[in-house]
Amino acid sequence: MNSSINNGGKTHIKYAHMHYPKTVELKCKKCKSKIIATNQNAPEEIEHFMDISDFEKKWNLICMDCTFRAELNWDELKEFDLWLKTKIRDIEFWSWNIHHLNMIIKKLRKTELKSDKWEFFESYIPKKWLLKFNSEREIRKIEMLKEK
Ligand SMILES: [Zn+2]
Repeated sequence: MNSSINNGGKTHIKYAHMHYPKTVELKCKKCKSKIIATNQNAPEEIEHFMDISDFEKKWNLICMDCTFRAELNWDELKEFDLWLKTKIRDIEFWSWNIHHLNMIIKKLRKTELKSDKWEFFESYIPKKWLLKFNSEREIRKIEMLKEK
């Protein structure tokens, strides 16, 4: 299962198992469009949350383009590819959702992260992304994911 949510788990266990985004953008297996997966147990106003229970989470999946709908747990989400994903200099880049993506771009552009809601995830950004994705060309490629 290359290039899926699991990749985050392999390099950053905590990332995958302790702290969750409230929404994850995935790729629909039926129509290849974007799915929004939303955790139904997390409060409305937060963007990510700490997991204190077990894996009995409810993720509500809605495809933006076709009729696909599902209610899955975190493990089952891993069967899907992430939507905001690309390959740069043979390194896989990915993010959970657009807000997470924006934070990573800020970081790559060395912009101040203070008051960014996604600041918590800063320390989980793979070191090699920060080292290798440092030219305008590469950052642009990442920014193009926003147009997807
Ligand atoms: Zn679909």
